[in-house]
Amino acid sequence: RRADALARAHTLCHTADGARIEVVANLGHRAEAAPAVANGAEGCGLLRTEFLFLERATPPSVAEQTAEYQAIADALDGRPLIVRLLDIGGDKPAPYLPIAPEENPALGLRGIRVGLAHPDLLEDQLRAILAVRPIGQCRIMLPMVARIEELRAVRAVLDRLRGELAIAEPVALGIMVETPAAAITADLLAREADFLSIGTNDLTQYTLAMDRANPAVASALDGLHPAVLRLIGETCRGGARHARWTGVCGGLASDSLAVPILLGLGVTELSATPGMIPTIKALVAGLTLAACRTHAAQALECTSADHIRALARAFAPQEM
Ligand code: PEP
Ligand code: MG
Repeated sequence: RRADALARAHTLCHTADGARIEVVANLGHRAEAAPAVANGAEGCGLLRTEFLFLERATPPSVAEQTAEYQAIADALDGRPLIVRLLDIGGDKPAPYLPIAPEENPALGLRGIRVGLAHPDLLEDQLRAILAVRPIGQCRIMLPMVARIEELRAVRAVLDRLRGELAIAEPVALGIMVETPAAAITADLLAREADFLSIGTNDLTQYTLAMDRANPAVASALDGLHPAVLRLIGETCRGGARHARWTGVCGGLASDSLAVPILLGLGVTELSATPGMIPTIKALVAGLTLAACRTHAAQALECTSADHIRALARAFAPQEM
């Protein structure tokens, strides 16, 4: 069985009934890329670029950023690399980014709002990504989108830079679905976004109105809450309406109990922590989409996350 798992680790992932499911890795540093590939990652579904920006007095230059992104792209050896634009804010301050103290940092200047408030930072990061070769290996993803204007504003800068740099090839620009607003209007956003990737950590925080950093409530935060699952289903339907794929890059993609439900709801890409890739690939290979759909429909009728977890444990194959 171990030999089977290893052999499977480096093949493209499909369910037992033949549906293609991309299993990719979340990365937060260049050193994580090669081990992720060794674990069978089919690419990177979320590069958290904050590591380049924190704990320093000045922002990284375009050249410095390009060198990091290029090293990661090279380590992925041609596999897709989804680079998430800077996602810092009041809760993760940087000295060169003066953000006035906020009463509610989670509702304040964070995610793509920071880039739009500091166009120089946004433009430098986009220039650095556009300098990576081959063009097209890097895809760009916006964090914390709540309004379509945010996507349009970044698309306008990206198109201007592609013009300046004479890049004729399209560069995919997708969004993270982390706010209830984005999930509910996924069909409208998907008209203009090339892909959707659900950040279940923040989506759960904002849906349940429970601060993920507050220990007094964080233990009650479970992405398998029926409200979150309904929003995931809504997002997948919205994406499908415009033939966009919907992935999950939050913690649920690394949760064996959640994966069958996610597939049943229409998710076709799972971006997991590198260490979980072999487990997730083996799990998906043993599932049928038909069974996942029935299971997800049952989950959507459950009243609580605990109830859904009990249902998921009963569904899970023995070896889990
Ligand atoms: C998420 O919110 O689910 C996510 C993947 O982003 P982060 O955990 O970096 O906020
Ligand atoms: Mg997030």
